Amino acid sequence: FRPEIASEVSEALNVLNRVFGYDAFRGEQQEIIEHVISGGDALVLMPTGGGKSLCYQIPALVRSGVGVVISPLIALMQDQVDALTTAGVRAGFLNSTQDFEQRREVEQAFLAGELDLLYLAPERLRVEATTRLLDQGKISLFAIDEAHCVSQWGHDFRPDYLMLSELHERWPDVPRIALTATATEATHAEIATRLNLTEAKHFVASFDRPNIQYRIVPKDNPQKQLLDLLRNEHEGDAGIVYCLSRNSVEKTAEFLVKNGIPAVPYHAGLDSRVRAKNQSRFLREDGLIVVATIAFGMGIDKPDVRFVAHLDLPKSVEGYYQETGRAGRDGLPSTAWLAYGLQDVVQQRKMIDTSEGDLAHRRRLSAHLDAMLALCETVECRRVQLLNYFGQAATPCGNCDTCLNPPESWDGTIAAQKLLSTVYRLQHERRQKFGAGQIIDILLGKTTPKVTQFDHDKLSVFGIGTELRDTEWRGVIRQLLARQLLAVEGDYGTLVLTEDSAEVLGRRREVPLRREPERASRPSRSSR
Ligand code: ADP
Ligand code: ZN
Repeated sequence: FRPEIASEVSEALNVLNRVFGYDAFRGEQQEIIEHVISGGDALVLMPTGGGKSLCYQIPALVRSGVGVVISPLIALMQDQVDALTTAGVRAGFLNSTQDFEQRREVEQAFLAGELDLLYLAPERLRVEATTRLLDQGKISLFAIDEAHCVSQWGHDFRPDYLMLSELHERWPDVPRIALTATATEATHAEIATRLNLTEAKHFVASFDRPNIQYRIVPKDNPQKQLLDLLRNEHEGDAGIVYCLSRNSVEKTAEFLVKNGIPAVPYHAGLDSRVRAKNQSRFLREDGLIVVATIAFGMGIDKPDVRFVAHLDLPKSVEGYYQETGRAGRDGLPSTAWLAYGLQDVVQQRKMIDTSEGDLAHRRRLSAHLDAMLALCETVECRRVQLLNYFGQAATPCGNCDTCLNPPESWDGTIAAQKLLSTVYRLQHERRQKFGAGQIIDILLGKTTPKVTQFDHDKLSVFGIGTELRDTEWRGVIRQLLARQLLAVEGDYGTLVLTEDSAEVLGRRREVPLRREPERASRPSRSSR
C-alpha cells in the first residue's frame, strides 16, 4: 500500500469538482481513473456520450508529467484544446495542420513541463523527431482514443494505429489507456492484442442507450418520409441525417431548406472552410440539422441531438450504432430512425463485389452487411438484437418500433416458393439476368413492354403472385435476402438463388415472414 496513491485518488474527485465542475463520477469513471492513476493499463469500452474523456484527462492532471493523447480526429483537436484551456487545463496538440512555428511552440511547452495534455495525431509517431521529443519530456500516460481504429476487422481501420503497439516497448513504465465506443467481442479482443494490452484491466460499460428509440422502416419516398418524421415529431429539433453519397447529402439538405427546415450539408467533398463552418454552426445553433455522409460526427459532442436519421442502409451494425449513439447524449428521449429498401441491398452488394481488397476483405464486408440486414428484418426487439450483437444480454425494451408495434408474422412459405421458382426459371432455365422489378412484374402478371419483349408472359409462373401487392413482394425479397435464401449480384441487382434456396423450393423449410407495416403508422411515444 502506498499512501501517496490514496491521496492521489481523492485528488481525482477534487479535480472533477474544481476543474470540470461536476459533482460525481459517472458509471465506472472512478474505478477507471483510480486504476490509471495507480499506473495500471486499461481498456475502456463505453458508449458514445458515456464520459470517456475524463477517464484520461483526470489521471493526466493528477499524475506528474504530460498525458499524451493519440487521436485520429485532427479536425477536432483545436476545439478540444480550446475547451480544456477554458477550464484552466494546459493543453496543446501536434498535427499536420500546423506550421513550423506553431509546432515549435507546443514542443517547447512540452519540454518545459508546461503542458498537462498533449494531443497527437497517430501519424506524428511515425516521425522520428516526435518520438525523440517524447523521450526528452516526462509522460504521465498514453491515452489511445478511438482504439477500434486498430482493428482491421472493424469499419474504421487506420494503419498508423498498428504502430501504437510499440508505445509499450519504448516507454514500458508509462500506463496506457485505450478507449472506444464501438466494439463487438471480436474487435474487443483484437484491440487488446494489437495494442499489446494483454495485462490491461478491461472496463466494459453497458452499451444500452435506453433513451434512444430505434425505428427501422421500409423506404419508399425517403425525403417525404423524413419530412413527415421531422414535422410530426421533431419540429425545431437539432439532428443528423446520414446519406450514403455526397450527391444525396446535397439534394436532401436543399430539399429540407426548401421546405422551411434549417439544414446544412457536410461531406468530404466540401471546401474545408465550409465544412468547419457548418460543423460549428451545428454545435452552436439550436435546431439546426446537418445532412452528412459518415465523414461527419466522430468526436462531435452536442448533448441535445434529438434524432439521427439514416436515409440509406449503413454498412455495418457497428457504424450504425456509433452514428445513432450521437443522439440524446443528454439522456432525454431521442429517435434513431432508418429507412431502407431493396435498392440499398443491391447497391451495397455491388459496392462489395467491386471493392478493392482480397476475398477475405470482401467476406468481412459481406458479413457486416448481413448482420445489418438481420437487424432490419428482425421481428424481435431492436435493442435486444443490437446489444446481443455487442455480446451483451438484454430483455425487450418496450421503446423500439418492434416492441411498440409488434410486427405481425405470416406464413410466407408459399410466397417464397413462388418467388424462388420464378428466379429459378430465369436463372437456370433461360440463363437470363433480372432484378427485383422484373420478377415482381412476372409474379403480378403485368404485361409490361419488358415482360412481352422477353416472353415472360409465357412462363408458367406468370401471374401466380397476385395475392400480394408490389410493396409486399419487395418485403418478401428483402427478408429472403436478409436470411440468405436469396442473393443479389452484379451491376443491375440480378436476383440469384443461394445454397439454402433449395430447402424452400424442396418444401423442407418453412418461411415465417414479417408483415409490412402500413405506411405512416408510427409508434406512439411514452414520454415527450
Ligand atoms: P464520450 O467521449 O464517451 O463520447 P465525453 O467524454 O465527450 O463522452 O462525455 C460526454 C458528455 O458527458 C460531456 O459533455 C462531458 O462533459 C459529460 N460528462 C462526462 N463525465 C461526467 C460526469 N461525471 N458528470 C457530468 N457530466 C459528465
Ligand atoms: Zn424493443
